[in-house]
Amino acid sequence: MPFELAALASPRPCSLAPGAAVKARPEAADAGDVDLFDLYQQGQLRNANQRIRFNEQNDDHRHKRAIDEIDRLHGRVDQLLLINEAIWQLLAERCGLTSDDLAARVAELDDLDGAPDGRRQAKATDCTCGAKVNPKSPTCVFCGAPQPKRPLFDAI
Ligand SMILES: [Zn+2]
Repeated sequence: MPFELAALASPRPCSLAPGAAVKARPEAADAGDVDLFDLYQQGQLRNANQRIRFNEQNDDHRHKRAIDEIDRLHGRVDQLLLINEAIWQLLAERCGLTSDDLAARVAELDDLDGAPDGRRQAKATDCTCGAKVNPKSPTCVFCGAPQPKRPLFDAI
């Protein structure tokens, strides 16, 4: 529901009839006279309402783009699941690995960050200067010291 600023406008009607006298505030306008302040205020309200409509349309467009992006990401996750399962089945068939082997390795990787939460998150490293370094950063932001190479998955 669009918000209308017109509801806040002056209740006094503004006449643009030919020959109407133009008065500026603070003098009170007579019926049928044009009040410059009212004209200015109505122009401001019209502009504000146009901006509100423009922003609402813009928000609708951004919302639709975000929904499309989420749908696209869901599709990519589904593809990755499919490929991972195919890789796992090939490994199990050709190398003799079992589901228990897979579960043990998943738990091992999950524990690496110190929080067994079913997610793989790279852990910050300690720099020689004492600062914590973002695992995605190749150098310390405080002293500039290069950080040791990390597993490729930490950069994702
Ligand atoms: Zn450092």
